[in-house]
Amino acid sequence: MSDCLFCKIAAGEIPAKKVFEDDDVIAFHDIHPVAPVHLLLVPKIHIDSLAHATAEHQALLGKMLLLTSKLAAEQGLSDGYRTIINTGHGGGQTFFHLHMHIIGGTPLSTHVSEISTQ
Ligand code: AMP
Ligand code: ZN
Repeated sequence: MSDCLFCKIAAGEIPAKKVFEDDDVIAFHDIHPVAPVHLLLVPKIHIDSLAHATAEHQALLGKMLLLTSKLAAEQGLSDGYRTIINTGHGGGQTFFHLHMHIIGGTPLSTHVSEISTQ
């Protein structure tokens, strides 16, 4: 996966504005934020998309979901936040290494489709 951007960021080969890292995941600011806070939470292992995840990734995916509240709190998102996982071309995914968007810091529409990351 030598040409995968998020693998390179996870390996420290490409810089990112990192806010969290452990053995399994890394979180950093999106380079094109759509809101005052826009983080990406990325597993360090390469998984193409959520549709490519399997039962062996269950704990990792659960960990990512549970981490969002800690990361959001650290960013001051006391009023809430939105998590988005774009999956596949039809789901708006542009970088094919599974990642979760954590977005907040401004009032968000109740219509999820009105938030775009493109
Ligand atoms: P998606 O469309 O769900 O695949 O989201 C990919 C996201 O990666 C977009 O929101 C981009 O702005 C973001 N992105 C692309 N390159 C970088 C980078 N070098 N550092 C941080 N975020 C990036
Ligand atoms: Zn990758």
